[in-house]
Amino acid sequence: MSQQTTAAVSGHYIGGEWTDASDSATFESENPATGETLSTFQRGTEDDVDAALEAAQEAFEDWRSLSYIDRAEYLWEIYHELRDRHEELGEIVSKECGKEISEGKADVTEAWHMVEWAAGNARHPHGDIVPSEIAGKDAYMRRKPRGVIGCITPWNFPVAIPFWHMAIALVEGNTVVWKPAEQTPWCGQIIAEMFEDADIPDGVFNMVQGYGDAGAAITDDERVDTVLFTGSAEVGHEIAGKVGGEPGKLAACEMGGKNGIIVTENADLDIAVHSAVMSSFKTTGQRCVSSERLIVHTDVYDEFKERFVEIAEDIAVGDPLEASTFMGPAIEADHVAKIRTHNELAREEGADILVNRFELEADEIPDGHEDGHWVGPFVYEIDYDPDLRCLNEECFGPHVALLEYDGDIDRALEVHNDTPYGLAGAIISEDYRQLNAFRDRADLGLAYANLPCIGAEVQLPFGGVKKSGNGYPSAREAIEAVTERTAWTMNNS
Ligand code: GLU
Repeated sequence: MSQQTTAAVSGHYIGGEWTDASDSATFESENPATGETLSTFQRGTEDDVDAALEAAQEAFEDWRSLSYIDRAEYLWEIYHELRDRHEELGEIVSKECGKEISEGKADVTEAWHMVEWAAGNARHPHGDIVPSEIAGKDAYMRRKPRGVIGCITPWNFPVAIPFWHMAIALVEGNTVVWKPAEQTPWCGQIIAEMFEDADIPDGVFNMVQGYGDAGAAITDDERVDTVLFTGSAEVGHEIAGKVGGEPGKLAACEMGGKNGIIVTENADLDIAVHSAVMSSFKTTGQRCVSSERLIVHTDVYDEFKERFVEIAEDIAVGDPLEASTFMGPAIEADHVAKIRTHNELAREEGADILVNRFELEADEIPDGHEDGHWVGPFVYEIDYDPDLRCLNEECFGPHVALLEYDGDIDRALEVHNDTPYGLAGAIISEDYRQLNAFRDRADLGLAYANLPCIGAEVQLPFGGVKKSGNGYPSAREAIEAVTERTAWTMNNS
């Protein structure tokens, strides 16, 4: 069973064994709402990664020769465990990454949706019949696994995103070396225990805990055939740059965004305000798809602003385990400092601050949570200028700009597209021509109409364009990154 105290130090899971963590460097997982230590973990080194990669390589041939159905059986075990332990795991997610409890549970739900989708794919293997041009020949395209997949995942979806990467990689016949985020090793530990309980063959799934140095040891190693990465643009670009230069190796990286929501002159403002609140403040704005730019037509600007600001002023920030909480804390002290810098930058660049709850009042902080990493909504308006850094740099917090535009959908799109990123966005409009223009011309990978721009579905491609994406590490399109194609041509005459 998973541990919940500092009593023991937990190791890595390599080649079907837990490593002995008694005499290594360690690190701790912290509850961001209280500042308390949750548990202690072995900190991965190059040697640990080396052992994990060796185990993964060794396991590959046997694993790839199992049928899709047989490989999926192990994932179905995990699917049931995720469902059976839903409440317990949801609470652990909330404790370790600070998401309010319904989001903690939704993280687990999303994980089993992903496992269900990937294991279900075993009944629907991917390939193509491609008729030969020549009589007497048969041809088709068959997929085969690439080999060892290195997975590096973020803390903000500590159960779901690992499965977005690993479930499909494993069902397709690859073996995996995974490093969970250093902020959420407890969730990592539990997932590894699930693979152990499912009796997956030794070495097929390996987990090494630790920091960026362990991650780099995975991504830089030539035994890794594909790197799947979800996280910051800074790290993702470094990985994509390095791996891209190595023949035969692939990286699929999904990174941040400076996502926008367009509210046009004919928008239903109930939908607009709801979508903006959910997209800007859910998960305390710490999603790669969170919205930091609200681009609102001048005809509805004042009413939208009044309603949005009223809600932001009132949003319940507090104990993630309380059902009444809307926003939990930021993940760690360094992140609070980063959010502060972004708020200050907006102010320096001339923002008019509409809501400043960055520093919560003492009476807003729940008893016993004084050492939590608290931040509240920060909402500002500013005259649009494409050169403003505050409108281009991702904050990854509850920090959002209101931008008033005057003109048609072309103008709204010009403002929307003018960021280096292109991950997610939404349009709120009652005019199908405006919706279609957004679908076709907004620079992004995830486009929503009359909805928040968060909450992707697992069967859809998940990724972005420009600085946000470099391939798809998750779900359907990840099949491209974790398989090779063989064009098979056979003489039938
Ligand atoms: N899957 C999440 C959503 O669509 C976002 C994942 C992320 O922020 O990394 O809201």
